[in-house]
This record gives sequence, C-alpha cells and structure tokens, in this order.
Amino acid sequence: MFDFFHFANLARKGYIHFGEGKIKITGMRVLLFDVESLNAFGNELEDIFGYNGAAHFLYRMSAYGGSRAAKAHKRFSDYEGDDLVRYIAKMSTGAGWGKIVVKDINPVSEIVVHDSPFVKRKKKNPTCHYLRGFFAGAATYIRKSRHECIEIECRSTGAGKCKFIVAKKKDILGNKQYRSYLNQISEFEFDY
Ligand SMILES: [Zn+2]
Repeated sequence: MFDFFHFANLARKGYIHFGEGKIKITGMRVLLFDVESLNAFGNELEDIFGYNGAAHFLYRMSAYGGSRAAKAHKRFSDYEGDDLVRYIAKMSTGAGWGKIVVKDINPVSEIVVHDSPFVKRKKKNPTCHYLRGFFAGAATYIRKSRHECIEIECRSTGAGKCKFIVAKKKDILGNKQYRSYLNQISEFEFDY
C-alpha cells in the first residue's frame, strides 16, 4: 500500500501531471512501456552483440536514466547523500522496478532487489543490467564521483534474490571477492 499512497501524495503535490498524450513526473516526461518489450530489446541486443556487449550497452543507457532520476529527486525533495539514496530506492520500488532494499550504504553499498522485472529463466549470468545501470548512474550523481555497479547474485541464475554492489571502481577492482564479476563493469567512461 505504501506505493500507492506515495504516488498519490506526489500527484496531490502536483509532481505528476497528465496532459494530452503526455505524462510528466517531477518534470520528466515518462511513458508506460511493458516489461516484456523492454526485455525483448535486451534479448535482441544480446543476439547481435553477445552477453558482454548487450550488458554494457544497457548498463550505460540505464546509468543515464539513474543520474537523471537522482537529479530530479534531489530537486523536489530536501534529501541529499544517504537519505537521497534511500528515498530513490522507495520511489523506484513504487515505480515497479522490484522491491529495492538498501543494506550497507557507504562507501560500498549493498542493494537487494526482490522481484526484479528483468529476471529471465535459467541463465548462466546475471540479467538485471537496467537496475545495475540505474544504481551506478544514481550513485555517480549523488556521490559526485564515478561509481560502478555489479550484480553478484541474480534470480536468473537460481538465487533467491538479486544482489548488487555499488562502489567506486577501485573499491570493486580491489576486492578479490568481486573478481568474477568484473566483466559487468564498463571499460568506457561515461559522464552522468
Ligand atoms: Zn537479477
């Protein structure tokens, strides 16, 4: 019920606006798009560019979204830093991105997502690249320095939940535990 009341509250404050053929939330134009189509987009990319290519593409694309969302949330809320991180987690949960629970927060964040919309059946590798990118972009904006995100558990590979680590690249590279996930990190710079 939290989700409904949260969004109803935003609408009451005028942060959600329905126009003719347009929906704006916190000043950003959004559109409702079904999850299966979004996942089909990822599948097609993987067919063409392989797992790593598709993962990097979706990661970077979603990082842009995460950064923009963090900027918008900061503008209309009074939150900053760790409070802003928790607030965005609630907002994104309400927006249908799965139930996002922020565990450890700083300097290395651990985020658990239940019911990720990007889970696929019986995969060898994690598949929630949209979430990874979103977290990396949001963290980069909030912490004012480039952050990366790896998914170290995923329901697509048989885990009970999806688990993400968000940190500066050097903190991920410096931890032996994360070595087998380094292929998820984009080798290219992005400035979101
Ligand atoms: Zn996952």
